[in-house]
Amino acid sequence: MELIDLSRELTHRTPHHPAHPPVVITVWDDHHMKVTAGNTTVSSKALSISFSDHAGTHVDAPVHFDPRPGAASIDEVPLENFYTSAICLDLSHVPLKHAITVAEMEEALAKSGQEIRPKDTVMIYMGTNDRLWGDPRYPHDFPGLALESVHWLADKGIGMFGVEAVSPSPEGELNFQAHRACAERGITHMECLFNMDKLVGRGRFRFVGFPLKIKGGSGSPIRAVAIFE
Ligand SMILES: [Zn+2]
Repeated sequence: MELIDLSRELTHRTPHHPAHPPVVITVWDDHHMKVTAGNTTVSSKALSISFSDHAGTHVDAPVHFDPRPGAASIDEVPLENFYTSAICLDLSHVPLKHAITVAEMEEALAKSGQEIRPKDTVMIYMGTNDRLWGDPRYPHDFPGLALESVHWLADKGIGMFGVEAVSPSPEGELNFQAHRACAERGITHMECLFNMDKLVGRGRFRFVGFPLKIKGGSGSPIRAVAIFE
């Protein structure tokens, strides 16, 4: 069995979507204090972390983009949705800021030799981290899905899709449209994934990425993992 880690490191002030607060990590304890109980003295290390529920590699809950009463928060989404069969499409050749069309999705699917099955997770590798990670353009210049491509995925019955960027579609109106389409179509997406290049050409795999049980959460950081049996 091979496990591929698809999550980014959570670090102090890690790059994030400009609309969300940053990750702030401070040292709470660093073995500098000794505490004694009875005859035993110990020290410990611990961090204090403040973060958005959209920090680092994360999944959006329906309540994030769906204002209707009853839209599920992250603690209400079934765990089965985060333990799925999955494939990865290679769209790493598209230019930055490009909105990927249905024709391009179909071409990538054909090239993968795979099919999209109901409830699948579909990873969309766009070469975003290769080109923008560590660059100030990272939160702005990424490519993404055209609105029609979000609907194309929904038409195929997927559960969710994943991207490397902070948004599923290019910055601005297209991104708002993609989030709204997810609400309309009952699907969701993960953002800020890593290592998708390691999934290309590997066929079908098991995806696991459980969210934290944040009551009322609009999303959650996940430890996203691809498993090849
Ligand atoms: Zn989102």
